[in-house]
Amino acid sequence: MCTVGGPVDIEFNERVKGTNYRCKECGEKFKGIGKRPMCPSCQSEDVEEV
Ligand SMILES: [Zn+2]
Repeated sequence: MCTVGGPVDIEFNERVKGTNYRCKECGEKFKGIGKRPMCPSCQSEDVEEV
């Protein structure tokens, strides 16, 4: 399971429980599970729900 790039990710995310987040530091979009999501790219906790 790779989540790299592409519009397919949007459809994929809707099928899986989790919240979509965007990192305020680097702009990385990722799906976080839990109360303290962390950016997988830069390890920042400064993220917002999207
Ligand atoms: Zn980041």
